[in-house]
Amino acid sequence: MPDFRIQIERLTDRPERFDFEVAAEWWTARAEDGEDDSVRAEAPFRFALDASRVSEDVVIEGDFGGSVGLECSRCGKRYPHMLREPYRLVLEPLGGRAPDPEGEQGLAENGVCLGEDLEVGSYRGAVVGLDDFFGEVIALAMPLQPLCAEDCPGLCAHCGARQDAGCACEDEKVESPFSALAGLKAQLEAKEQG
Ligand SMILES: [Zn+2]
Ligand SMILES: [Zn+2]
Repeated sequence: MPDFRIQIERLTDRPERFDFEVAAEWWTARAEDGEDDSVRAEAPFRFALDASRVSEDVVIEGDFGGSVGLECSRCGKRYPHMLREPYRLVLEPLGGRAPDPEGEQGLAENGVCLGEDLEVGSYRGAVVGLDDFFGEVIALAMPLQPLCAEDCPGLCAHCGARQDAGCACEDEKVESPFSALAGLKAQLEAKEQG
């Protein structure tokens, strides 16, 4: 049974507001189906949306917002990442078309079969279940390369310490091959003159 459902019958052409709160546990349970388990929801996700029926189509439009604990791809630090993703989904009645096996599974579980681009899909029956759609929107909102800060300095090439905390290799880092050569040259010049 889907957790997030809309009765199609109650929809009209005037958009109605729905506010779904997605518990952190819901996402964690989904994510454990083989997805990245370094991602942890920090607070309930929110799906605020307007739903309406335009002739036979169900139109869903809204925003997703949430916060997750992620691991910085540069320095490995865990940090809270704000997620936000607007969406618009139009569901048409399935009619006589035959869905693919994945679509058939979605129809069996949620009464909904989603298209590739998450903008269109089909429904069958009296209820639209949004579980899979919510899961896809959350996945879409996740950053591919999480960064704790846009300018995260990453790790020290010498000792592997996080650069935002600093490390004891301060002097070595400043010394480039060129400055080392310049130092040598200065020493030689001093010798010649001396
Ligand atoms: Zn970082
Ligand atoms: Zn270092």
